[in-house]
Amino acid sequence: TLFGRIAHVDDGQRVWPCTIRGVLRTRRIDGRSSLTVGDRVGFVVPAEREGVEVEGVIESVEPRHGELKRVSGRREHVVVANVDQVIIVTSAGEPKPKPHLVDRYIVSSLHGKMQPVVCINKVDLAPADETDCFLSVYERLGYPTLRTSAVTGMGIDALRALLMGKESVIAGQSGVGKSSLLNAVQPGLALRTGTVIDENSKGRHTTTRATLLQLDGGGYVVDTPGVRSFDLGCVPPERLEEYFVEFVERIPHCKFPDCAHLQETGCAIKAALDENKIDPQRYESYVRLFTEPEFRKNATK
Ligand code: GDP
Ligand code: ZN
Repeated sequence: TLFGRIAHVDDGQRVWPCTIRGVLRTRRIDGRSSLTVGDRVGFVVPAEREGVEVEGVIESVEPRHGELKRVSGRREHVVVANVDQVIIVTSAGEPKPKPHLVDRYIVSSLHGKMQPVVCINKVDLAPADETDCFLSVYERLGYPTLRTSAVTGMGIDALRALLMGKESVIAGQSGVGKSSLLNAVQPGLALRTGTVIDENSKGRHTTTRATLLQLDGGGYVVDTPGVRSFDLGCVPPERLEEYFVEFVERIPHCKFPDCAHLQETGCAIKAALDENKIDPQRYESYVRLFTEPEFRKNATK
């Protein structure tokens, strides 16, 4: 299910160009745009006539599950619908793995109802105990992990199997090997980069548009131009605690119901931290995200 001015609908066999029924154009889903990349739709195709290109009509849109969102100004909108999982790629070589960045991606994934998967690539460049140590934090929290090398081919089968039949986003900072991994999974399936530029009365502005790359054997990888494609400013600070799984069961034990787990007395999170039951890196990520000006400014309720 792809989308343009004319929507391109993939029925699993072929792609149909479709127009969108008027009511769907005007009706807004969740107060946002009515159709987006990844939406599952019902459509009808008129009987084929010779010499006329068949064009379907989209009649209905199914409720969405996971949503990849982006913030523009003070509003968030859905870039891609029905995303199942986010493969958070880090690198064992350069650039060095950044736990804080991984935590940010995990928070955003969970906020968008997507499953986070932590992948460490370039394992050919670091000793195994280093990568094990990095991933062990996330394994203890219950997140699926992957160890890969686009160079040696290690872990590529596992990655391919994980992508099969699902709609996935590959996230991670530039240079970690996202394109290399996708090319290893399926040659020719590199991430493209670029922006769709359109003109409006206020002058030039750029909009980014996502497409879905189809995997042989089923499944899609979301292709979003630009590294900031996966915006993290969507999570209201007061909801942040929900996305730190190791916090959740402890929160009811904080003395104050509105405890932010920073300086408050009787905080169960701080207590668990002192007892080494919460990883200090994770707690630091929470504090940074909670106090980050950018994060707070963009948060929408
Ligand atoms: P992206 O920006 O995340 O898409 O990263 P690229 O796929 O462009 O890779 C960045 C650089 O890392 C390139 O020079 C790749 O050849 C290199 N690279 C990617 N994967 C690996 C790997 O598993 N091992 C090693 N040694 N280098 C890799
Ligand atoms: Zn607390």
